[in-house]
Amino acid sequence: MTDKERQELLQRLLEKQKDGGLKPADRYEIPPQDMPEQDPVERARNVNEVATGYTETHARLEALRCLQCKTAPCIKGCPVKIKIQDFIAAVSEGDFKKALTIIKENSLLPAVCGRVCPQEVQCQQTCTVGLKFKDPTKAVSIGRLERFVADLDQEEIIPTVAPNTGMKVAIIGSGPGGIVAAADTRRAGHDVTLFEAFHKTGGVLVYGIPEFRLPKSIVQKEIDVLTKMGVKIVCNFVVGRTRTIEQLMKEDGFDAVYIGVGAGLPRFMGIEGESLVGVYSANEYLTRANLMKAYDFGSGADTPIARSQKVAVTGGGNVAMDSARTAVRLGAEKVYLVYRRTEKEMPARIEEVHHAKQEGVEFHILQSPKRVIGDENSHVTAIECLKYRLGEPDESGRRRPIPIEGSEFQIDVDTVIIAIGNIANPLIRQTTPGLEFNKWGNIVVDENCKTSLEGVYAGGDIVSGAATVILAMGQGRIAASAMNKYLAEKSDCNKPC
Ligand code: FAD
Ligand code: SF4
Repeated sequence: MTDKERQELLQRLLEKQKDGGLKPADRYEIPPQDMPEQDPVERARNVNEVATGYTETHARLEALRCLQCKTAPCIKGCPVKIKIQDFIAAVSEGDFKKALTIIKENSLLPAVCGRVCPQEVQCQQTCTVGLKFKDPTKAVSIGRLERFVADLDQEEIIPTVAPNTGMKVAIIGSGPGGIVAAADTRRAGHDVTLFEAFHKTGGVLVYGIPEFRLPKSIVQKEIDVLTKMGVKIVCNFVVGRTRTIEQLMKEDGFDAVYIGVGAGLPRFMGIEGESLVGVYSANEYLTRANLMKAYDFGSGADTPIARSQKVAVTGGGNVAMDSARTAVRLGAEKVYLVYRRTEKEMPARIEEVHHAKQEGVEFHILQSPKRVIGDENSHVTAIECLKYRLGEPDESGRRRPIPIEGSEFQIDVDTVIIAIGNIANPLIRQTTPGLEFNKWGNIVVDENCKTSLEGVYAGGDIVSGAATVILAMGQGRIAASAMNKYLAEKSDCNKPC
């Protein structure tokens, strides 16, 4: 569809709507609006965002596809319960400010969520339009509409902050959960300090998810809002090393603490050759490339990264796709994605799989490395893989991969990136007596995100294990609300009777 045809269609539909309204049949006939993207060959050579965003015409046409279902099943699929049909109605009317106001009632970071939330397994999965066509790709593109209205928001709105309560809050970790917890506790008038181990704030949003999926300027804008609200930001501060939680509370006068340190410890496969030169965890590879801008080494950045020719990435999640696509952008001739199940079982977003393939990543499914092979200088030269077949479903509900004996074969590579998942870093556990953890090393909390320690709350990946941005944000909000209540009671107790 050309831009002209799109504009004419929108005009016709708006007139029809004025004349007596659009019937469901009219709405079903509107073609789903694809997101404009950079050309695959072009974008594989740059780090700019792949999806370039809807125009106003795309957005209003897409919004007119929404049936405005009375029961809004899409909301049931949204972890933070955005009033989806209301914001989409505002988009269809061209009232984008109203649309954003509705979204912001429930989600503080719409420009981030519109880009990285797995909508296809959340709100869009339950959308009536997708179900009617028995095709999930035909669901209303709720995420793209969210991104569209969030990107139009050039005006910086600084939330109102209540008068000073005299209570001090420490937020540990500046990922999405920490950002939301900091904003919501500061809004209540507390003196909030956000401690971050890295030299830059934003958590996985800046060190993990690459620029080509989530521009760092978007995250920085949210951090700037926190600063303007009066949140103090302290980087290069590792809680558990620089100060412990006990010291923050007993010696530094913090009345409440939110722990949002994520799940930043990479898992390895435990196979021979994993310590050879040229084997990276996805975390290290992505942190070097994203946070430390290794792609610019020698010109603007000081952090080196392997200039690889042939790269194997093991895993099938978003982290694996991000690593493979980053390797493409860093100039690798061949990038292989090695995954022991099939594409159907891959946890990565469908869109990411599609983009990776478009950019030339070769998928080796039903295969997994058995060992990494190196030369006399301990540099990687190849991986030896085994072939797999699928058996019965395992506890994750996915069919179990079963190795085929004697199926060993080799792939020549000079770099291996292990992207099979992350777990909790044990530092907080080792340095916080009395804080309860489960067997996977995650902090145990109640329904208000309260931990076993008085005044200490937690949320995000350190509680749920590696999960999603929206879930971390949701828990940051629950924790902040409980902290505000706790601090109000504490402040009342401190007042002379
Ligand atoms: P995190 O984002 O993990 O941030 C925690 C912060 O705490 C970090 O900045 C860390 O440096 C800091 N910290 C750690 N220890 C300490 C300490 N002791 N003292 C002070 N600071 C500390 N989710 C999606 O929804 N969609 C996606 O597309 C997606 N893609 C992903 C791609 C990658 C490569 C990765 C790694 C994850 C992805 N995720 C995605 C998952 C998502 O990013 C996380 O679930 C989310 O960021 C968790 O948020 P969090 O608030 O728990 O903290
Ligand atoms: Fe609109 Fe789909 Fe939600 Fe119905 S389920 S209100 S069609 S977005």
